[in-house]
Amino acid sequence: MEKRIRLGKKKRICLVAHDRRKKDLIEWVQFNRGTLSKHELYATGTTGSLIEEKTGLKVNRFKSGPLGGDQQIGAKIAEGQIDMLIFFWDPLEPLAHDVDIKALLRIATVYNIPVAITRSSADFLISSPLFEKEYEKIEQDYEAELIERIKRIVHQ
Ligand code: PGA
Repeated sequence: MEKRIRLGKKKRICLVAHDRRKKDLIEWVQFNRGTLSKHELYATGTTGSLIEEKTGLKVNRFKSGPLGGDQQIGAKIAEGQIDMLIFFWDPLEPLAHDVDIKALLRIATVYNIPVAITRSSADFLISSPLFEKEYEKIEQDYEAELIERIKRIVHQ
């Protein structure tokens, strides 16, 4: 079972970078400032402050990642309020909120959100012709599947 979700031309993009990767993300945002300025930007607390300070772009900020920011983003994705995730996570160090990071990547997968976890994948994403176009996203309808499964169990 599938659901089709229409994304508008203007995307709601969430930007997150762990400390070791913040410089990388800020450089990427500076390089793509023109394109990103046409979209609605979101970020975890510290990442968002740094982006605003270094680029002057307006960013809607959640809490800092370790203080629940990743979970807030996950909730927004589940509610259909975030279209895309650029997440430069740290591959070299375990973090206190590793479980939140895993949960965020899981929920992004459940809702078939475009996700870039490396600078090169973010380059590919932003240079896709789909980035500025309307797009029909196909989501697996897990809720309908779940209801069907429960019905089968109850009526056994
Ligand atoms: P921060 O959070 O932008 O507040 O540093 C990022 C994270 O650790 O998930």
